[in-house]
This record gives sequence, structure tokens and C-alpha cells, in this order.
Amino acid sequence: MRDYYEVLGVSRNATSEEIKKAYRKLAIKYHPDKNPGDKVAEEKFKEASNAYEVLSDPQKRKAYDQRGMAGIYDIGFEGFTDFEDIFSRFDDIFRRNYGGFEDIFVSRRQSGGPQRGSDIRYKLTISFLEAALGAEKRLRIPRSESCDTCHGMGGMGIKTCPKCQGTGQSSRSGRGFFSISEVCNRCDGTGKVVQAVCNTCHGSSQVSKYRTITVKIPSGVENGDNLRLQGQGNSGLKGGPPGDLYVNIQVQPHQYFKRDGKNIIYEASIPFTTAALGGEIKVPTLKGSATLKIPQGTQSNQTLRLRGQGIPDTRGNRGDQLVKIAIAVPKRLSRKQEELLKQYAKLE
Ligand SMILES: [Zn+2]
Ligand SMILES: [Zn+2]
Repeated sequence: MRDYYEVLGVSRNATSEEIKKAYRKLAIKYHPDKNPGDKVAEEKFKEASNAYEVLSDPQKRKAYDQRGMAGIYDIGFEGFTDFEDIFSRFDDIFRRNYGGFEDIFVSRRQSGGPQRGSDIRYKLTISFLEAALGAEKRLRIPRSESCDTCHGMGGMGIKTCPKCQGTGQSSRSGRGFFSISEVCNRCDGTGKVVQAVCNTCHGSSQVSKYRTITVKIPSGVENGDNLRLQGQGNSGLKGGPPGDLYVNIQVQPHQYFKRDGKNIIYEASIPFTTAALGGEIKVPTLKGSATLKIPQGTQSNQTLRLRGQGIPDTRGNRGDQLVKIAIAVPKRLSRKQEELLKQYAKLE
């Protein structure tokens, strides 16, 4: 049995992050969905998963460092035998976000027929104004696509599978007089194999490519919204349709504005004289600035409304900008101001 550090290609004092990265790389390379029917890849995949199970767990790693496999067996770790166990055990590796984008593998293998490509998740951070008014964004996304060199066949020249003679089924003798029929593991039940494995995709029929995709962000998207771009995910296998691309929107907060559905909320501080006498102030809006009329006798915390200065909805109707008034009282007064205010106070 190979040394677990060697299996993952990391040093003995590798950090948990380095170990995770190394495993993820190997898991992608030897993933059973990418190497259907390949026994060597299957073994490598299990070997890497066993190494990761031990080295990612501080207790198991310590036991392994001190006493090797004997230490591991004492803890009760027997190693994985089933793919499904691996997929569910390392759900975070196979499903969750990893460095900006997420590549979801199809964890359940189907033999034979067309397979839909997996979905891709991409986290996109946009500004408050982009979310409010809409925007167009260009994303560079790595995805697997059908290999051009072999036209998605995995190799050149198709011939009848030598193992099953094209039936897609192979039979092996069971105990006694029975013979057991199962899906041929050489051709994955298709009855055909390629004559020469493609040098570009190494038989997987897919290659990883960076694609630039333009995404239209509709006005009014909210933090956490998911935009679905149909058919922009990873390409399918054996003529199956591509998966989808999900763009998860993260909206940055704004310096002045807050949001309540279609309405924009803004807090304005005005001098107490303006509040008492009435007047006009200038306030920033989504598209620049606007003049707001302050009625005579405006109170603190009163909300004034700028109609149509909010967020447009899908039908083009715009919300309002709500201006919450805070009244500023001067901290210092000139002698003249003080005199006048005292006279005013006497009148009250
Ligand atoms: Zn076959
Ligand atoms: Zn190819």
C-alpha cells in the first residue's frame, strides 16, 4: 500500500487546505463519471479518497503519522469500497462552492444512455446600483465541453466491443450451473468502443475550457437571487443535454442608500430652520440628484417621497425614493443667532 502523503502528492507537514486541494484535483481527474468503466481510475479514485479520509481528520492523521496503517486500523477505519459512500462522505468537495465556482458532479452513475451535463454555480458580486438599475456582466467560467478533436467520441474510429461482441451485456459464470448477465464494463453497455483513444481528452470525450458568457442582470435583483442560464453548464455525455449555469447574486451595500423592495430609502439631515420654515434641499438619487421640497413645519423622522425615483420592476413601473428627515440642531451659535433665538423663545 502506498504512503497516503505520496498518494495525494503533499509533504508530511501539509496544511489541511493543501490536502483538500490535492484531493480535489485527484478526485476530478479520476472521477468515475469522467472515466466510465476504467478500473485503474476507479482504484486511484478510491485510493485518493482513503488518503483524504485519513489525512483530513486530525485524529486519524495523528494515528497514521505515529503508527502508520496499524494506527488507522486500531481506530476502526477500513477504507471505502463504494463510490456512493465517498460522494456522501465528502459532499463538501463534490457539491459545495470551491473558489468562486462550483462544479457539481453527477454522483449517481447511469450506464449506457445519454447523460445530462452537470450544473455549474457561480457567485457574482455586483454593486447596489447595478442591482437596482440592471447591468450586463461578462463572466469567465471554466466548464467541460465536448472534445473537438474526437467530436465527443473519446477516440478515433468506432468498432464493435471485443468483450461483449456488441451486445452490451457480458456474462460470467456463477457458482454451479448459472451464468450471470451484467452491463459490459468495457463499453459501458453501448456495444461500441473506440479504436484509438483521443490524445486531447484521453478518452473522456470532454475537455475543460474557459468560456466568456455575457449575463444580463435584470433591474431589481436582490441579494441571494439565482439567475439560471439554461444550457450554459457542463456539456452532457453521449449526446445528453448540457447542464445549466446558476449565477448567485451578491449585492454590495451602498454608502447612503438602503432598499425596501422597489423603494429606495435615504436619510437626509436638514437644518432646524429649514424644517420650521420650509425650503428645498438637494438629495442624491439612483440616477444622479433631485431637488426635494421641504414643507413648512417638517418634523424629525418624517418621511418625504420622491415619486418614481426608486427601482423599476419588470413592467417598467418604478418605486419611490423615501427620504427620512433628521433635524440638525447647531452645536454652536453666534451671538447674533443666540439673541434672535432668545427673542423667538419669548414669543412662544
Ligand atoms: Zn462491451
Ligand atoms: Zn477527444
